Amino acid sequence: MTLRRRSRRVSQSNAWPGVIEAYRSYLPVSATTPIISLLEGNTPLIYSRQLSQAIGPRAQVYLKYEGMNPTGSFKDRGMTLAISKAVEAKSVAVLCASTGNTSAAASAYAARAGLRSIVLIPSGNIALGKLSQALIHGAKVAPVEANFDACLALAKSLVNNHPITLVNSINPYRIEGQKTCAFEICDALGQAPDYHFTPVGNAGNITAQWKGYKEYRQHRKIDRLPVMLGFQAEGAAPIVHGAVVKNPKTIATAIRIGNPASWQGALTATQESEGAIQAVSDAQILEAYRLLANHDGVFAEPASAASVAGLLQLARTGYFTSRKKRQTTVVCILTGHGLKDPGCAIDSITMPKPLPPSLSAVSKAVGLG
Ligand SMILES: *Cc1c(COP(=O)(O)O)cnc(C)c1O
Repeated sequence: MTLRRRSRRVSQSNAWPGVIEAYRSYLPVSATTPIISLLEGNTPLIYSRQLSQAIGPRAQVYLKYEGMNPTGSFKDRGMTLAISKAVEAKSVAVLCASTGNTSAAASAYAARAGLRSIVLIPSGNIALGKLSQALIHGAKVAPVEANFDACLALAKSLVNNHPITLVNSINPYRIEGQKTCAFEICDALGQAPDYHFTPVGNAGNITAQWKGYKEYRQHRKIDRLPVMLGFQAEGAAPIVHGAVVKNPKTIATAIRIGNPASWQGALTATQESEGAIQAVSDAQILEAYRLLANHDGVFAEPASAASVAGLLQLARTGYFTSRKKRQTTVVCILTGHGLKDPGCAIDSITMPKPLPPSLSAVSKAVGLG
């Protein structure tokens, strides 16, 4: 008797298929493109009561929690497409410069596709969670004694001299994949939000999100577009100042970028939507980071909190009250998971001291004494 061969995959007809399958008709793939996916996307859009109240009586604020992607950041949306296209093009290795999350996503998707991955990171300025991801997925990690911008310049030279695919966001497939975030927001709300808040580093994401909204309107999925508001860290705000920052500084390492690759894309998004790119301080970023964790139960990495810091900054200056609208819907993108950078969480609280194993000492220490 022979055993019947069965498909090893469980049928998942109702399950989320990943962003390429979900939005195939909007993306540059064909029936023969091999799809490399970790079922990224479909991230939660979480209502925030505290932020809605902070903005005004008729405001609804939602958090798009991109930290819930497979490698913990929105970078997975672009990487599924960039790696699929690299496989289609018969590439054998991929390379990126990264402040951390791009390397985490590149190394995970490359591992899944059986490609080699190489990552250049600014040594000493990458959160530990992200570094451990690149290493455990088997990337060749080169810590370079320079900032991100210098790493990207090196990466560009390397791909000019070797047959490897660059998977930074200057790779157009990254932007194409990342626009699915805007599609999901519109699908969840049944319309575009009035305001879209997002952190800005290399500016690939704001470029992609704006492209996504515009394409959805072209296809009549929505009939209006949001105002795009992007936030850089004060010490790394080249777009705000209109000049390259030589030595960008901020605790939010994911947006510690002095010469954004998609600078023009960010300007286009904010000019066409009558939005703006503004700066927030590290203190504001940390305040928003703690507020999100304390009152919404949402743990996002520091760079992510720049969007919420920006929202609170605009609310304080009366940006919303001066606009007489019935209902205001706001979406803040939380780009990455808080567990990426546990060091930042531990540094921003006071670490409790070890106690003797006595009922009285423990009761007293936890406020039940
Ligand atoms: C990459 C990244 C950003 C910045 O996105 P850009 O597309 O470079 O503007 C912000 N937050 C997190 C967590 C990131 O990983």
